[in-house]
Amino acid sequence: MGRYMCSRSVQIVSRHLKLSQLRVFHITTKDAVTPAAALGVRSISSFLFDKAFVDGQWVTAKSGSVYQITNPSTGKTIGSVPDMNADDTLQAIEKANAAFLRWRETTAKDRGLILRKWFDLTNQNKLELAKLLTTENGKPLKDALFEINNAGEFIEWYAEEARRVCGDVIQSTTANKRMLVLKQPIGVAGMITPWNFPSAMITRKACAAIAAGCTVVLKPAEDTPFSALAMCHLAKEAGLPDGVLNVVTSSRDNAPSVGNTLCTSPIIKKISFTGSTVVGKILLQQSASTVKKVSLELGGNAPFIVFDSADIDAAVRGTIVSRFRCSGQTCVCANRMLVQEGVYDQYVARLAEVMKQELRVGDGLDDSTTQGPLINIKAVEKVESIVEDAKRLGAGLVCGGKRSNKGDNFFEPTLLSNVTVEMRCAKEEIFGPVAPVIKFKTEEEAVTIANSSSSGLAGYFYSQNLSQIWRVAEKLEIGLCGVNEGFINAPEAPFGGVKESGLGREGSKYGMDDYLEMKYVCIGGL
Ligand code: NAP
Repeated sequence: MGRYMCSRSVQIVSRHLKLSQLRVFHITTKDAVTPAAALGVRSISSFLFDKAFVDGQWVTAKSGSVYQITNPSTGKTIGSVPDMNADDTLQAIEKANAAFLRWRETTAKDRGLILRKWFDLTNQNKLELAKLLTTENGKPLKDALFEINNAGEFIEWYAEEARRVCGDVIQSTTANKRMLVLKQPIGVAGMITPWNFPSAMITRKACAAIAAGCTVVLKPAEDTPFSALAMCHLAKEAGLPDGVLNVVTSSRDNAPSVGNTLCTSPIIKKISFTGSTVVGKILLQQSASTVKKVSLELGGNAPFIVFDSADIDAAVRGTIVSRFRCSGQTCVCANRMLVQEGVYDQYVARLAEVMKQELRVGDGLDDSTTQGPLINIKAVEKVESIVEDAKRLGAGLVCGGKRSNKGDNFFEPTLLSNVTVEMRCAKEEIFGPVAPVIKFKTEEEAVTIANSSSSGLAGYFYSQNLSQIWRVAEKLEIGLCGVNEGFINAPEAPFGGVKESGLGREGSKYGMDDYLEMKYVCIGGL
């Protein structure tokens, strides 16, 4: 087994390290034991796996290479996983293909039942899964629990959706012919996921594929492989047959070759990627060589518009949820606040007040923390340079604006006023806890600014004017629209963007379409 050994749930020893290099896993006895024991579930260490998962087995890289994963809050090493390459990926693809020939023959009901069991197991162990997620990603435990719930909801959703896939019978215009449409699983799906939602992005993709009768080879992000591997463990325990879900772990150095192998393999029939627009474009080009179906969930630059008629307290509440969740590291985070001149001062003052009252920077495992670290030092440097650019071009610093004294990867929640559209904070996806506020005069101007981005993932606006609500909802060039609401994610709703934010939709009744092929069957001579 690839599981780490531990004593009293606090010390996790990497098998790859000498005794002199013992690593301490950043979970306190209190954190690890009390509530879990009360629920009668396992300790967090029983979810920490140091091997990749291929064909139902815990495996090493052929080369024997490993890489280490650190806790972004403390900088301490959590453990290591195999650093797999193109060869390892090819092997996983072959195993997934062999499994596909069997899995596609199962009934939708049986697939749904296995997914349902996986959902139950995820639910039973959510606290431990959340702690693991916080430890490798840094997000506050409350946010991690929320993500595990959400990850479970996707498993549950697709357990139910498996049986709702239906073909069609078309009215034939020829008396002795019958015309049918069959929906069949597309084949082996290749998936690449990011670090910011290391569990939910996996279940949102993999469970749609598995429910449809496909098998999966998935590469998680370098920084967060443990959550992916924990999910494999539960899937296996739920009875998912060997080879249906395969997770190939790799460092950032090997990511391009693993990605290229998935995209160019003739066995892989579908690529699903969540991550940056830059990488999405590379994968789209690579997939052209085998004319693959591709789904891309890419970066955003969400406008958050507050009109004069808005309920300002509600808008401020929505800003806190939408801008500062996961320290601003979600693709649907409000990135640019556009506020109408009549309520601009009131909004900025109220937002500053609530930020100071409610946002607490710290280790995600501390109860009071609302703002964990950014994922790594590069992310901190990027946010810092975006804030400096805004200040240089004349933005006002209302609060924050610098690194926090909590540790290397922490940045203070920041509010910038008098922002203009030329500044980087208005043009780029910030991916950090910075709220830049732009003043506008008219609805038309707000919509023009909002639509000036090449991204089109989420957007939000606050208004109590019904005609304006209809007009603006229709005019915004986005895939997801929150009206008087800062949190809009749900497994029942289609998730995805327009423009350079991506292709396709995940979740909802549409989410399985990408894993199904339509086959037209014409029966003649009747
Ligand atoms: P990223 O750099 O594109 O990485 C995402 C994944 O792609 C990781 O697994 C990464 O592996 C892998 N990767 C990197 N370079 C690759 C290459 N050349 N070929 C194949 N795979 C490659 O994005 P990120 O910075 O981790 O994630 C943040 C971005 O994701 C933001 O833009 C955010 O908006 C977007 N996002 C979008 C959604 C959505 O649903 N639309 C959801 C979440 C995040 P390594 O980790 O090993 O480098």
